Amino acid sequence: MCITLFNYQENLLPAMRYSFLSVFTQALRGHTGWKPAWRKAEPAPSYDVVIIGGGGGGLATAYYLAKNHPEVGRIAVVEKGWLGGGNIGRNTTIIRSNYLLPGNEPFYEFSMKLWEGLERELNYNAMVSQRGIYNLYHSDAQRDAFARRGNAMLLHGADAQLLDKAQLRREVPYLNYDNARFPVQGALVQRRAGTARHDAVAWGYARGADLRGVDLIENCEVTRIFQENGKVTGVETTRGTIRAGKVAMAVAGSSSLLAAKAGLRLPIESHALQAFVTEGLKPLIDTVITFGAGHFYISQSDKGGLVFGGDIDGYNSYAQRGNLPVVEDVCEGGMALMPMLGRTRLLRSWGGIMDMSMDGSPIIDKTPVDNLFINAGWCYGGFKATPASGFCFAHLVARGEPHPVAAAYRLGRFAEGRLIDEKGVGAQPNLH
Ligand SMILES: Cc1cc2nc3c(=O)[nH]c(=O)nc-3n(C[C@H](O)[C@H](O)[C@H](O)COP(=O)(O)OP(=O)(O)OC[C@H]3O[C@@H](n4cnc5c(N)ncnc54)[C@H](O)[C@@H]3O)c2cc1C
Repeated sequence: MCITLFNYQENLLPAMRYSFLSVFTQALRGHTGWKPAWRKAEPAPSYDVVIIGGGGGGLATAYYLAKNHPEVGRIAVVEKGWLGGGNIGRNTTIIRSNYLLPGNEPFYEFSMKLWEGLERELNYNAMVSQRGIYNLYHSDAQRDAFARRGNAMLLHGADAQLLDKAQLRREVPYLNYDNARFPVQGALVQRRAGTARHDAVAWGYARGADLRGVDLIENCEVTRIFQENGKVTGVETTRGTIRAGKVAMAVAGSSSLLAAKAGLRLPIESHALQAFVTEGLKPLIDTVITFGAGHFYISQSDKGGLVFGGDIDGYNSYAQRGNLPVVEDVCEGGMALMPMLGRTRLLRSWGGIMDMSMDGSPIIDKTPVDNLFINAGWCYGGFKATPASGFCFAHLVARGEPHPVAAAYRLGRFAEGRLIDEKGVGAQPNLH
């Protein structure tokens, strides 16, 4: 039995609502009645809004545009590969809002709140798991910095708790407490943080956008951005020309390449970031842990693999694979923290291309070309931002003004010196 959600356009199939009942009845039918989660749309000659990039940012933008701003008219997402094949499907799935600076914290906390209602909102199981994140500290100075960050989080309505070593040891007993090169002294915990199934987030937003009439066009690479008299008029794609009233770019690691097609030079460098997964293990790590004396973070997937990562490769690259020195560095970080990791077997590693901005914070703004908008600079933290990124970018594209929680993410801040430098390392994209 399928349940009609709503018939959103005359020529579209009624949507199937996912529920216990639909799973149960499909099971009785041998699962022969499921429908595709979205249509395979063909490009139309023109749209009111064309969103470039079918990753988390682009699909969430399409969803919130269609849902919250239906007055914008016809919307398409054009994706050069397949939906969710970029960084949204390659990340280590960590969601959190443990930021310090006023430009960042309200935005990421807004995103956290959207995560908390996302599965109901999308009627899609995104496996959002608020299993908590422990940021370990290893010195008095680091403890003080974390206390400051925790206080900033509390002031913005997020949750935070500072644990000393004894408290931490009770909750996370398997760290190397007694013989560590960098002794663990405690942790800043955000208990509402956690993980979400990254592909499901892309698929859920894709389905939600499709249900509201958005055309999702795959295998369609944008090769030119047309402008007339300083105003965008459309895009050339590998599947033909598409005219557009507004064009919104959300292409993550390809941001500089795409912006160059509109004559723009961005304050962004592209770097590879790797991630790793071990063979499946019994439940072992029921939270997310970050090492404070090196760059290493780890959680356990619902399939049992330990999922972990570390630093970017440190030089500019568009290759979606990583170098061996970083593999070694990440594994050393893991072993320093949890020597037991040495007994697991690494199953796979992969890479994605990060759009590293000069201050480590994102850009959600208009561009100097009228009706051309940009969503970029997510560095390696854009997955957790997906709901708020889409929500705020949709607001900007529809209304032409920034959403209040994303108001600091202006392109012009680099020229004006209003940086949002969470790590305080300056204009060094590879250090953010
Ligand atoms: C290994 C790794 C680990 C990470 N871990 C985390 C984490 O734990 N937590 C976190 O918050 N973030 C994490 N991130 C970062 C996060 O995944 C990204 O910041 C975020 O996904 C970027 O936004 P997106 O989803 O829109 O990008 P993408 O999914 O990359 O979407 C961009 C899309 O644009 C398409 N595109 C590019 N050029 C064109 C063109 N010319 N025409 C049409 N389409 C085009 C691409 O094919 C791609 O599908 C990680 C990233 C990686 C690689």
